[in-house]
Amino acid sequence: MNKQTTGAAEGTAPRYEVIILGAGVAGIYQLYRMVELGVKTTVLEDAGGLGGTWYRNRYPGCRFDSESYTYGFSFSQELLQEWDWKERFSGQPENLRYLNYVADKFDLRKHMQFNCKVESAHFDEAHNLWRLQVEDGRELTCRFLVTGLGLLSAPTLPRIEGMESFAGPSFHTYYWPHEAMELAGKKVAVIGTGATGVQVIGEIADKVDELTVFQRRPNWCAPLNNGPISVAEMADIKSRYAGIFAKCLVTPGGFEHEPDRRGFHEVSAEERLALWDRLYEEPGFGIWLCNFREIFTDEQANAEFSEYVADKIRARVTDPILAEKLIPKDHGFGIQRVPLETRYYEAYNRDNVHLVDIQETPIERITRTGIRTTEREYDVDIIVYATGFDAITGSYDRIDIRGVGGQRLRDKWSDGPITFLGMQISGFPNLVTVAGPQSGSSATNYPRGIEIGVDWVTGLLEYMWKHGYTRMEATPEAEERWTRHVVKMYSTMLMRKAKGWFTGYNSNVDGHESGRVRHLVYNGGAPKFLATITQIAEEGYKGVTFR
Ligand code: NAP
Repeated sequence: MNKQTTGAAEGTAPRYEVIILGAGVAGIYQLYRMVELGVKTTVLEDAGGLGGTWYRNRYPGCRFDSESYTYGFSFSQELLQEWDWKERFSGQPENLRYLNYVADKFDLRKHMQFNCKVESAHFDEAHNLWRLQVEDGRELTCRFLVTGLGLLSAPTLPRIEGMESFAGPSFHTYYWPHEAMELAGKKVAVIGTGATGVQVIGEIADKVDELTVFQRRPNWCAPLNNGPISVAEMADIKSRYAGIFAKCLVTPGGFEHEPDRRGFHEVSAEERLALWDRLYEEPGFGIWLCNFREIFTDEQANAEFSEYVADKIRARVTDPILAEKLIPKDHGFGIQRVPLETRYYEAYNRDNVHLVDIQETPIERITRTGIRTTEREYDVDIIVYATGFDAITGSYDRIDIRGVGGQRLRDKWSDGPITFLGMQISGFPNLVTVAGPQSGSSATNYPRGIEIGVDWVTGLLEYMWKHGYTRMEATPEAEERWTRHVVKMYSTMLMRKAKGWFTGYNSNVDGHESGRVRHLVYNGGAPKFLATITQIAEEGYKGVTFR
């Protein structure tokens, strides 16, 4: 197919057939599929380069917690055989190099526009196209708008008095400076102990003069157990890629890890312990995803396992009072996203690392020279805000997206997202949200879910072109059914009780700080999601109307 832009005959052709927002993992693969089909496409990216998450997050310690070789794209055998992963969980610089390599190999860069911030996207009902306003003053039009905005790309800062008065460098981890940052001899404060803070703390503890961690709530962390991949191991991985990706397709998380299907209560305490001892020593998310399924749904099972992990923390942190502060008391293991760590708990055994429990002694204000709590003032040279993101919907809220009748997406989603398959929204024709809220692609090993989503979206667009349609839209009924399904799945998961980004909690965003659950992710697992969307496609996209 050589597709330029539909509607040319009537003189109403949009400038592009497809505009993709975001040049991260999703945007790169969606672009690859469009270029392969000869579709006139551009990618608009507000950063200065491609890579999304891996372009932005340059903080020390930033690395995969998916096995590198399950994170890479699977669509090209040549690419798989060319690229050598050097570490089991590869670091940010290498990950960014990889994505650039992919873009160059397939000559994708020429279809990307960087430093291109989209301020608004309005659906033009008369012409069935999207009109985008770019910050530089341009208006761009497209028939189909495909978002690859990422799940965690709207960073949020705390609202602490005096933040602007701090004299030294201070930044969110997402905006860690690109130029080398001297840490030696510096007094550094880290606010936040999620997956990001945990990576930063483990990495810089022995490189700075003093490190003071301001912790509101501890997280349940488990060892990453990273290591190098030898030349021989990489050769072996390359020979097994087909099997590796086939396995990722049938496990709930899109990893090689899969749950232990024995019933938690059917095996003895000794057998449970044997499994946990093994998983704690293994690399990656096995501790979370190869565990008994009841860990996620059964309070008693969860409590027993949480106590097991608490004992591990107690064994690793020499000061028993400090150890207790690092053990979560308000939620069990695995019902919030589990940070995987390297030397995290051991960092607290160092004389130069201090933990401030800000539930006990809250931060009062940031001063010119440091951080003042109700107890005392801490003088610091650098403040690192590892305070997380307005997850999944945040990056949509930051663009003025309007559909039929001028309805704002932000308003439609003010009480939480409503979607069809996490990919379409009634009232917003010709908009497709790859890995959007409530999609199965957003709760998995990201690229595995992305490839599923992009392939489905590509099939849908091909269907449109084949039939000569210029407008598609999810029906309100289909959307309501899907959202109800997503909501229902939360009701069986202990996760619904957690205050993490899976449930849309964020104390720094108006309306998201109440702890009221926002149903952001599909919890049915990647295989079920794939089966569902495949069936819908086979039934002629039931739930979508075409014109
Ligand atoms: P996060 O998990 O949301 O953690 C944010 C941290 O900041 C929490 O400890 C939170 O405390 C604290 N915080 C937020 N606002 C605060 C405030 N006003 N005052 C004091 N503390 C505050 O964010 P994240 O660590 O950036 O991680 C987000 C997600 O990114 C992860 O869950 C993961 O999915 C992804 N990630 C992935 C990788 C990887 O793949 N290797 C690495 C890093 C991150 P509370 O818990 O009390 O709210």
